[in-house]
Amino acid sequence: MNEKTCAACDCPLDDTAIEVRVGGQTVEVCCEECAVKLRQAHASATASLHGGAAA
Ligand SMILES: [Zn+2]
Repeated sequence: MNEKTCAACDCPLDDTAIEVRVGGQTVEVCCEECAVKLRQAHASATASLHGGAAA
């Protein structure tokens, strides 16, 4: 019982899972599309935390 799911879309992960590092954490997603989605979501969350100023 160690089934992982995509951090972006919640579908079950298989051998093709991709590891993505966001915010110092490594998460796994099902495809490159979800990886991009996750990075963008984190980027915008970080941007709003810092008042919209890019580092
Ligand atoms: Zn996914």
